[in-house]
Formats: sequence, C-alpha cells, structure tokens
Amino acid sequence: MADLSRRHLLGAVGLGSLGLVAGGGTAPAQARASKWKDLSRRLSGHLVGPDSPRYAELATPRNLRFAALMPRAVALCADTRDVSVAVRWARKTGTPFAIRGGGHNYASASSSDGLIICTRAMAAATVEGTRLRAQAGVRNMDLAALLPRGGKGRLLLPGGNCPNVGIVGLTLGGGIGPNAPWAGLTADRLREATMVTADGDVVTASVRSNPDLFWGLRGGAGGNFGVVTELVYDMVEVPVARATGFVLWFDGEEAASLAGAAWQQARPAGGRSVSGSWVAVRTPDGVRGRVRGQALMTEADARSMLAPLLSLGPASVEVVERTFWGTYEWYTAPISDPGFFWDRSLYAERDLPDEAIADIVAVVSRWPRPDAGVGACQVLGWVGGAVNDVGPTATSYVHRRARAIIEVLSGWEGRENPTRWPTRVPRDVHDWADELWETVWPHSNGQSYQNFPDPGLRDWARAYYGENFDRLTQVKGRWDPLNLFTHAQGVPLPGK
Ligand SMILES: Cc1cc2nc3c(=O)[nH]c(=O)nc-3n(C[C@H](O)[C@H](O)[C@H](O)COP(=O)(O)OP(=O)(O)OC[C@H]3O[C@@H](n4cnc5c(N)ncnc54)[C@H](O)[C@@H]3O)c2cc1C
Repeated sequence: MADLSRRHLLGAVGLGSLGLVAGGGTAPAQARASKWKDLSRRLSGHLVGPDSPRYAELATPRNLRFAALMPRAVALCADTRDVSVAVRWARKTGTPFAIRGGGHNYASASSSDGLIICTRAMAAATVEGTRLRAQAGVRNMDLAALLPRGGKGRLLLPGGNCPNVGIVGLTLGGGIGPNAPWAGLTADRLREATMVTADGDVVTASVRSNPDLFWGLRGGAGGNFGVVTELVYDMVEVPVARATGFVLWFDGEEAASLAGAAWQQARPAGGRSVSGSWVAVRTPDGVRGRVRGQALMTEADARSMLAPLLSLGPASVEVVERTFWGTYEWYTAPISDPGFFWDRSLYAERDLPDEAIADIVAVVSRWPRPDAGVGACQVLGWVGGAVNDVGPTATSYVHRRARAIIEVLSGWEGRENPTRWPTRVPRDVHDWADELWETVWPHSNGQSYQNFPDPGLRDWARAYYGENFDRLTQVKGRWDPLNLFTHAQGVPLPGK
C-alpha cells in the first residue's frame, strides 16, 4: 500500500517513468533515478516527466518537425533560484539540456532529450511609469492583456503578433512586429536583463552593468549565454489614438503580382506610419495575393495611401479605422496549433523589381501540395524605419539597413519520409522551397533573421550576425567559456 501511494504521488508529478518507482534495478539505473529525484526535491517548482498530464504540452515544440526529440523531464521553474538549481544540476550531472520559454524556436534549439529548463510558470509582468518588468515566462498574449491598461493605453512595448511566442526568445533575437517601423525592435526597448550564468550565478546586464553581455543579448538570440529570468523595458509612447487596419485579397497570378508591385509603391507614401506585408499563397483554387497591414492614420487617409492597390480591383477589401488598441488586437494572430513548417528568411534592402515579383508568384503557383498544407512567399515590412535608426553594430542585431524580410513559407500535414536531413522536410516541399529561395536570393542582402532560424542555412553565422559575429563569440567566451549553453546554430567560442 505504501508503495502504491508513492507510485501514485510520483505519477501525479510525472516522475514515474524517470525510474523513480523501480523496485530493484542496476546500480547505474538507480544512480540515474536518484539524480532526477535530487533535482525534483530541490526545485520549488515541478519536475514534469512523461507520466504527467502536463508533459505533452510542456515538452512538445511548436514545430512538430522536431517532436521526436523529447526530454526526460521538464523543470518547470518557479523563480530565478529554481533556474539556478537546474543549471547547476545539469552541469554537475552532465545532463544535456535546453532552455524553453514559448517553445516557438523553428529549429529545435529549445528541445533536448535530457532536461528542458522551462520558464513558463514565471509569468509576472508589471508596469511602473514607462518601465515594464517581465519575467521570462511572459508571452505576447500576456502583454496584449496588460498594455492597453498598464500604461493607461499610452505606452507600448513593440513586440511580435503571435500570442504565445515567449518574450525572451523574441527579445534576444531582435523582435519585429507591426509597430517596429515607428517604435523599433523589442530589443531596442530593453534596458536591463537578469541572467543565470553557466555557474548558476545571477547577474544583471545593462548599459552600466556588464555592457558586453547587454550588447550580446540584444540580437544574439536565445540559448547562447545563460538563462535570462527577467527583462526590464522602457516603453514607447503611442503617437496616435486611432489607427486603421487593412486587408485586401487578389485572385489569380497576375492580380497577385500586380498587388505586390502596387504595395511597394503605396507603402513609402505612408513612411513609418504604415507597416504590413504582401503574401502570395497557393490555395486549392490557384494563387491568391494578400496585402495586410496597419496605418497610423484615419480610414480616409489609409484609403488614399492604398489607392494603387484599390485601383486594381481587389477580390475583397477591408479597411477599418479603430482605436490604436483595437487595431493592435485586430492585427494579432490567432493562437495557432503546433504544426510541421519550414520558414526561411532573407532580408532585402531594396524593393523587388516587378519581374522578380512575377517570378515569385510563378514558383508559388508550383507549390506541390495545393490541397494540403501551405506554400507561400511573404514580403514582410516590419523592419526599416525606426529599426534602422540604430547602427548595425550598436547592438548585436545587425540587420539595420533592411527594408523588408522575404519569407519562404511552407507547412504540411503529418510526419513522413523520406525527408531531407538536417531540415526534416519532405522532398517535394524541400525542392519547391529551394526553387523559391533561389528566386528571391538575388534580391536579398544574404542575411537571415536569427529568430527564424533555418537548419538548412549554410553560412548561418554570417547570415544571422554579419559583422557582429566575431564580437558575439567574444561575449560567449567570457560568459559561457565551457560552452554549456549550446545548440546546432549556437554562438560558438572564439576561433571555433
Ligand atoms: C507562429 C510564430 C509566429 C512568430 N511571430 C513572430 C513575430 O511576429 N515577430 C518576431 O520577431 N518573431 C516571431 N516569431 C519568431 C519568434 O520570435 C522566435 O521563434 C522566438 O525565439 C521564440 O521564442 P519562444 O520563447 O516562443 O521560443 P523557445 O523555443 O522557447 O525559445 C527560443 C530560443 O530562445 C531560447 N530561450 C528561451 N527562453 C530563454 C531564456 N529564458 N533565456 C535564454 N534563452 C532562452 C531557447 O533556448 C531557444 O533557443 C514567430 C514564431 C512563430 C513560430
């Protein structure tokens, strides 16, 4: 009876399958079990193992391409001390681990077959004056709930538009969103970070305190230097009370191409106050083009700005003025389910020539799975403007001359073979994405967004970090000299 209740207890916190309930077993197995038990005992939060009802939710990455890499357990940390305990434990026991916030990493960097150090339960956020203090488990959706009232509706932290993306991953890789062209990157608003180092010590980084680390954390991407547990931002004043959201659809290849060219013409007229994207997507009925965005102006002014697009006779038009926060909510993406996807990105410093847009649309039309999955190309104008007011080397986010990010987007259903290593992408999807990549490449500056990491990228270090790469390796050498925080596209030690 005593054993049954113990088994039940361990099952409830999910530790049964870590071997803690084994009656006998070999000495190494018992040692392994006892190390997990030791970690569980020392955490104020929970160690969640495969028997726990929460395991699947916490252990599965958003990108199911990498769902085969599942951890022995997830340390659901309650506070900075727990993070420190978990880091020290992983180091001492030699257990592989990864750090996870929102779990949206495109390339399995927050997955491990050992331990996941998870900050999800550390989700407090407070506003004081213009300062926003956020624990590492805060996600975009928490900010969306807090900001409209926190700063009395007058203050914004510019962020992304996916509700469940984590604040640390977003910030450390830069952080782009609909408001970036006037408000800058999320990383540009960062003033202080608290981080647990490879020794388990707690340090702060700011302009005055450990400025090299502070530089590295603003663009160097997550999982490279330590576990960030808290971030402090200076928010930016919202310049308008009202804004206009717009979405226009165009049917057919020709209309989709013309819309892409017209959007490029229309956008400069609005300057920083207009942001949005053009997408060409293959549907079962053929290619469709979509222009979607926001304009910090009245509906009438937005309609004038959109005149080159409206004159093309879109299949559908929605141009609606709302309060600033109403438009913010309208532009927020719905919470998406985990899925299989591959998102590749290239920065562009110039508008695309009309012929290039037509070429892109032609490749999109050849998406091999029109009835299942998504094949699309997006030209995303959430960069430029205020993002480029900061110099390329002032922070570790180097992409300060770009005007757009061109994304090669593919999503498919189900696990399947054969897939191409290391991308784990089905062959037909891979071939299509390669063709689209080759088509957009000549119009890019060769750089890629580190927050859309791509296992298929050859020279990822230069693509993500450009001229900042060598300095990032120096920061790595100082803060993680044993390379404890490592993943496939992690910042290496100097000279490696
Ligand atoms: C559907 C979707 C929509 C997106 N939309 C946007 C967008 O609008 N704008 C934008 O800029 N990006 C966007 N992204 C990209 C997103 O910003 C990055 O993938 C981001 O790194 C995800 O953070 P996360 O915490 O959700 O993911 P995780 O996978 O948990 O973490 C991402 C990386 O950061 C590391 N990390 C996590 N927590 C910590 C920590 N506490 N300390 C140190 N390292 C840590 C992880 O180990 C991993 O390497 C989107 C991604 C997806 C999948």
